[in-house]
Parts: sequence; C-alpha cells; structure tokens
Amino acid sequence: MSSTPDSFADLGLSETLLKTLTEIGYETPSPIQAQCIPVLLEGHDLIGMAQTGTGKTAAFALPLMEQIDVKVAKPQALILTPTRELAIQVAEALQSYAKNLPGFHVLPIYGGQSYTIQLKQLSRGAHVIVGTPGRVMDHLERKTLNLDNLKTLVLDEADEMLRMGFIDDVEWILERTPEKHQTALFSATMPEQIRRVAQKYLVEPREIKIKSATATVAAIRQVYWQVSGMHKLDALTRILEVEEDFDAAIIFVRTKTATVELADKLNARGYAAAALNGDLNQQMRERVIEQLKSGALDIVIATDVAARGIDVPRVSHVVNYDIPYDTEAYVHRIGRTGRAGRTGNAILFVAPREIRMLRTIERATRQPIAPLTLPSRADVTNKRVTDFKAKVAEVLNAEGLDFFANIVSQIAEEQDVGAEEVAAALAMMAQEGKPLQIAGEDPRPAAPAFDRDSRPRPGSFDRDERKPRSGERFERGDKPSFESRGERPRREERPTRSAPSGDMVRYRIDVGRDHGVQVKDIVGAIANEAGIESRFIGRIGLYDESSTVELPAGMPKEAENALKRTRVRGVPINLRPDEGRPEGAGAGERSFKKKSFDR
Ligand code: AMP
Repeated sequence: MSSTPDSFADLGLSETLLKTLTEIGYETPSPIQAQCIPVLLEGHDLIGMAQTGTGKTAAFALPLMEQIDVKVAKPQALILTPTRELAIQVAEALQSYAKNLPGFHVLPIYGGQSYTIQLKQLSRGAHVIVGTPGRVMDHLERKTLNLDNLKTLVLDEADEMLRMGFIDDVEWILERTPEKHQTALFSATMPEQIRRVAQKYLVEPREIKIKSATATVAAIRQVYWQVSGMHKLDALTRILEVEEDFDAAIIFVRTKTATVELADKLNARGYAAAALNGDLNQQMRERVIEQLKSGALDIVIATDVAARGIDVPRVSHVVNYDIPYDTEAYVHRIGRTGRAGRTGNAILFVAPREIRMLRTIERATRQPIAPLTLPSRADVTNKRVTDFKAKVAEVLNAEGLDFFANIVSQIAEEQDVGAEEVAAALAMMAQEGKPLQIAGEDPRPAAPAFDRDSRPRPGSFDRDERKPRSGERFERGDKPSFESRGERPRREERPTRSAPSGDMVRYRIDVGRDHGVQVKDIVGAIANEAGIESRFIGRIGLYDESSTVELPAGMPKEAENALKRTRVRGVPINLRPDEGRPEGAGAGERSFKKKSFDR
C-alpha cells in the first residue's frame, strides 16, 4: 500500500467529485485508481490490467465523468461490458458518483430489455451509455444511437467479451466510433486477440498493471468463506463466536461509512466494537488502539489506511469483511495478527464474483487459503453451552455461595420441585440477551467455489459432458430458468449441473459456418439476449447457412421475441421452431453438446 497516494485530491479530480467520494465514504484511492485516474485525466489511451474487486469501475468512471458536458444531452461516453449484469452494475456505480452532478444521465442498454423502453430512454438523451456489444451494435445499425459526440470509450472486461464470442462485435463498434476519442481497455488477462485489438484501436496507450507482491505469511492460518445464503454480518458473528482462541479482531471494510455501520451493528449484538477510519484525528485513533490493547474493546472495524501499522499483540483474528483491492493490501491487513510470536488467524469473505481475487492472493502469498465451513446452529449452541459450563464451574469455586444455596433450597421447597429444576430456571434466566440455543435455519451450504479461469472455455467441446465438473454438484431434474437475470436467485442458491435435462425444443437460426459463426457465438448471444443461462442451452447443430439450437420448452414470449431480433456476427438470427430436416443432414453437420460457461 505504500505506493498508493493517500488522497483522491492528489489525483486531479474536481471538487465536485471529491465531495461525492467523501460523501459515499471512499477514503483513499485503490492502487488501480491511483494509477489510472491521472493518466486518463491527461487524456491518454489506457490499457488497465485489473479484475473485479480492484476498484476498476471508479478508475475509469471518475475521469470519464470529468469530461461530460451535462448541457449536451448526447452520448459522450460509451462503456462496453460483456454481460447485462455488469452493464447495470457499472451504470449504478456511475449514477452514485453523479450524485452532485444534476442532470447527469447514464443509461444501461442490454439484450433482453424491451426496445421500446430503450428507444424512449435514448431519445430523452443520455450522457453515458453502458451496454453489451450486441445491443449497442443493434442501436448503431438502427441509427437510434449516435456516437458523433463521443469523447471516451471504455472496454470493460475485454477478455470476458472475447471469451463470450463478442470480440467481432466489439471491433465492429470500434470501427464506427469517431476518430478522436479516448479509449480505455480493462482486462484481467491479456490474451493475444485483446492485445491485437488494443494495438489496432488504441493510440499510444499507457499500460497499467497492478503488480502482485509476493510475500510469505507463514504464522497465520488463512481461511475464506464464500459469501452465500446468509448475510455477512450474521456469518461474521457466528464465526467469531466459535473461533478457537478468539481474543480480539480487526475487521477490514472498504469505506468509512461501513466502519461506522458495522461497529454500530456489532455493538448492538453485544460486542465491544469501535470504528477506526480516516475521519478520526490522531488522538482519537490512538485512543481506539489503546482500548483495543487494554481489552476495553475487542473488535476494531477499520479501513486500510486507518489500520496501517497497528501493532496490538492480542489481535487473534483479522477479518477481511470486504476483500482487499490487491495482494499487497491483503498481506498488510493480515499482518495485523500473528504478532509477537503468537499465531494469528485471517478470515476472508469472498463473494462469488471475487473468486478470482482469492486465487490471485493465493498465488502471490504462495499459500492456499482453505475454505471455511460456516458454523452450524448446533456448533454455536455447543460453544455457548461449553462457555456457560466453564463460567458456572468458575462460580462454583467462588466464596460465598452458601447464601445463594439457601435461596435455591427455599425455592425448591416453596415450589415443590427439585434443585435441578431450580438450577435449570436460573440457567435460563442467566442467558440474558444471548440464548444458549440459537434460533433460525442453517443456510444451505454453498457449492464449492470455482473460478472463471478453471472453467472450460466455450470454444472447446467434449462429446461426453455428463460428468459433473469438479466444484459442481450434479443434480437431475432442476428446471431451466427464464427469469430475468437481475431477479435470479444467486448462484449459490441454485442447484448446478452441467447439461440440461427436461423437455427441449429445437429451433433454427439463420446463421451458420458460412457466416464465420462458431458455437460460442451462438451461446453467448442467446445467453445474453434472452437471459437463458448457458447451462440450459442444449445441443447446437452448426451447418453452412443455418444452425439449430435446443432450448428449454415453455420459453416465454418475451424471451422468444428478444431472440427473434438477436444478431450473431451482425446477422439477424431469425429464431423459429425447427420443423424440417436439418439442412445438409448427414453432410456438413456438426453437432455439439455445448460446454457450460455461464457466468
Ligand atoms: P470494482 O472493482 O470496480 O467492481 O469495485 C469493487 C467495490 O469497491 C465496489 O463496491 C466499489 O464501490 C468499491 N470501491 C471502489 N473504489 C473504492 C474506494 N476507493 N474506496 C472504497 N470502496 C471502493
């Protein structure tokens, strides 16, 4: 973290955006932000090698927003994203950064959403468009999107766009953008094709890569919990409660606001917790650390900057409640435990989309981070009972019990019950606000994490797809879903399997090998346009002029209509149920069982 400027103010951002960042609780720029923002503000093209979780969205969004003239109600920036989820997420981020920019308008456009709505929104005038390549292409062709005023173009997750078969669409768009504009390309990896695109369309780009410092963190037990099925706060308290050797903890979050919120919530749950953030002056900061040392506080919730250099030997646990931006920050954070020769524990919360960062951390620290199973209700109950017994045993050894023993005898006699029952009543009373038995359900365990890197690439096909991949459970009989992506249950709540079952209907589409189409293009387009997860897309038959694709029966009209209008490699696919004999059956047909690569 030492190379990171301490302040957004050092990066050249306007007062308005600085005010907004303070309001939303961003304390310091993340490394990718610190490096990209000045370069983009100077107007250079840029290649940023960064993945989700590094703060890359703000890295390109903030400079881009500085260039927007709100008075001109025309698209001045275009951000291309591989999926609709990301388009929405990026648009929401921009909207939050625009809270002090009255009249600023950002519009996400993606497949599967009604054209009528999009056309209405486009005609109202948006300053920034965030869209998936297929839909952006469509609007450009229909001339419902005009890029004449474009100042900035961002390709977000370029390697994912390549992986999903959208790279030709991206190039098509790049060729139709005005000569003079700034281009920023972000990608977690830099495959050859992306490099080629960068060379062709970017002008003397500055390349920014956050290096992963390697470090050893030997004396620390490192585990991660894949966020699923339960709120992080509930998971945190469960974990802290059953952790062996818990003494004190530092919990890391990303924003100042989050330090205060989490401290309040933990206090409400009976923990002695306090926030430590950049808003505290030196004296207040020292006071918090002193209290942690003395045991007046057990938990401190901190941002990276505020926790720099803390050396409190009783810190037995570090919890990365929000995953850090980079490995350097991770190593720095967990170094707050395991001090003065003691063993430390580092617990990392990882959302499904942050799995990649987990793997990066493992690589950089050259140590595996083991998955942590969330303690069950029974585990928590057992721990509480054990602690309770220990407390009772301690009191049994204390002086002056006679007075109380006498009271117990009196109650037993008056109530005509045994001493055991009286003791049970007293034990129940002794629970105070913290019952020994915790109520509620245990969440379903999450499917083990598997990262995108380890997923099969959509371009490679196996004949035998029935075997579940490692990290997946293979369950029969789950129904395909056509729900809109935004409303889908989260991945970990859904059963997963690797090949669709149930009734499938075969459709024909008007694109084939002669159009240069590959299976991955078809899968990518259908997955994105109709919101059908790729695992529910069945066999794809690739012919010269057309193709067939099996989709689950009972497709809603909305999805079918979206697919009718979908284009692959610029060609309308004209999806319809396939009734006739396949074109060239027996000759030229290649039928694939598609490998799953849903996001
Ligand atoms: P991203 O990598 O762009 O998806 O960002 C990951 C998360 O980090 C988002 O929830 C952002 O709101 C948050 N974030 C980004 N930059 C900062 C910052 N400088 N301080 C605190 N949180 C941030």
